[in-house]
Amino acid sequence: MKFGGTSVATVERIRNVARHVKRELAAGNEVAVVVSAMAGKTNELVAWCKETSPLYDQREYDAVVASGEQVTAGLLAIALQEMGAPARSWLGWQAPIHTNDTHGSARIESIEGAGIIEGFKRGEVAVVAGFQGLHKESGRITTLGRGGSDTSAVALAAAIKADRCDIYTDVDGVYSTDPRVVPKARRMERIAFEEMLEMASLGAKVLQVRSVEVAMVHKVPTFVRSSFDDPANPGAGTLICNEEDIVEAQVVTGIAFSRDEAQITLRRVADKPGVAAAVFMPLAEAGINVDMIVQVVSEDGNTDMTFTVGSADYERAFAILEKIKDDIGFSSMAGAKDVAKVSAIGIGMRSHAGVAARAFRALSEKGVNIRAITTSEIKFSVLIDEAYTELAVRTLHTLYGLDAA
Ligand code: ADP
Ligand code: ASP
Ligand code: MG
Repeated sequence: MKFGGTSVATVERIRNVARHVKRELAAGNEVAVVVSAMAGKTNELVAWCKETSPLYDQREYDAVVASGEQVTAGLLAIALQEMGAPARSWLGWQAPIHTNDTHGSARIESIEGAGIIEGFKRGEVAVVAGFQGLHKESGRITTLGRGGSDTSAVALAAAIKADRCDIYTDVDGVYSTDPRVVPKARRMERIAFEEMLEMASLGAKVLQVRSVEVAMVHKVPTFVRSSFDDPANPGAGTLICNEEDIVEAQVVTGIAFSRDEAQITLRRVADKPGVAAAVFMPLAEAGINVDMIVQVVSEDGNTDMTFTVGSADYERAFAILEKIKDDIGFSSMAGAKDVAKVSAIGIGMRSHAGVAARAFRALSEKGVNIRAITTSEIKFSVLIDEAYTELAVRTLHTLYGLDAA
């Protein structure tokens, strides 16, 4: 069972979490619980690091931001004990959850569940601090990137061979799009791993991308459900499952969006072999992810090149290109941060033609200009002005028949 920030935001909510845990114990289950920090806590800790020094040491960042989960793990263990359920907290280094040393966005390498399983034999609930791990060689605390408690939970479930992993959050499942933006969004009974992976990586923050990968690789039956349901009578939520286990397949199952995008355009780049490499290699070497790429060839052998990077990388990317401007040879550079990426996802796109074309028409009828497009087997994305995000999401949601009755 994993409980996110809003679900453990206060001591009273932590008591409510304990009631959910007690229900599962009463049903005869052994339970490991993964908790996030209280809502807003991690943001506060991150801000403190930046305030102390904009160029903070990533290892110390991890030491600071991992503290939020330490508090909630201890508090939930106390709440459970108070209700008569033996419980013990486990920090990342105690479990231990081994990670690599990419501080700030470490990847889990292995989890030793033996101590936790010993605890089960003593009748104890294991309360595990999410988001954090240990780099064994250096002995330092690491964190898994924002939203990383989801990954802690799924990886732990895989390590201790849990029957299932329930991700409790502040919505009662995975919806066809963010229900806070589109009230007509529909909850899904099931969603395929591949679709959930695309939804998460294209901006649906309900699950961390890495958690879906781990669930898929280790075949962990994962449910997304609400901690605000009555602990005595909770709903089932959404099951993330194999494609074959979905009965009523649709062409488009979900719409995702991300406002964390930035666009860069290079004007009058020489149109000759090696130019794309000259532009994108330095960005790759700096660890900057480039997403959409559009190249327009003009008649005189020059081309305009537009691409997107995450908005957090925008200034860095700009500075790198500025430095190599003369080597590459382009006339000028322009950029925009007020852009958003809206994507439609569905396994059915593999076998249906014209799915994206319908979207382009619908968006044009609403006056939404498309700056760039990318497509792959089961999704397509458009880059638009940020101000039109909600309009575009709602337009596509209606277009593909996703609106709830
Ligand atoms: P937690 O703190 O429990 O990890 P998050 O805020 O990380 O919760 O994730 C839950 C939020 O994800 C919801 O409140 C919702 O606004 C957002 N969300 C975005 N896209 C979706 C979607 N397709 N289905 C459900 N929730 C979504
Ligand atoms: N507390 C961490 C964060 O806010 C991890 C998580 O909530 O999953 O990113
Ligand atoms: Mg989350």
